[in-house]
Amino acid sequence: MPIDATEPYDDQNIFAKILRDEIPSRRVYEDAYAIAFHDIAPVAPTHILVIPRGAYVSWDDFSARASDVEIAGFVRAVGTVARAAGLVVPGYRLLANAGPHGGQEVPHLHVHLFAGQPLGPMLAGAPAA
Ligand code: 5GP
Repeated sequence: MPIDATEPYDDQNIFAKILRDEIPSRRVYEDAYAIAFHDIAPVAPTHILVIPRGAYVSWDDFSARASDVEIAGFVRAVGTVARAAGLVVPGYRLLANAGPHGGQEVPHLHVHLFAGQPLGPMLAGAPAA
């Protein structure tokens, strides 16, 4: 069920529990600002989620309230994860869903990193490039 990206942060959301190690995940990276782990239901050969450690609901919330240091740390973490996975040359796609039209379901900001094959058109139903 897509969330309202303006709702208050719920510290019982699934990614908050992953951050606190209350539920398992296949972590591939962590630093002071972010962690990254494999999506439980991958839609590409490589499908990694990168999330900030801070309690932010959505891209809207993060871009409005996070400090410059947190924003820089998170953006650098996304790049580091992609480089460490060897994805720069074949290429990859980043996606952050926000709110009902974006289809965001987990109310903790996350960036999807998709890779491992040509990823086709940007949106479902769009003509192939
Ligand atoms: P959204 O639709 O919010 O942008 O994406 C949420 C993503 O989180 C989905 O791709 C979904 O498969 C993934 N996900 C949901 N629950 C879990 C979980 O418990 N563990 C992991 N690793 N991924 C999850």
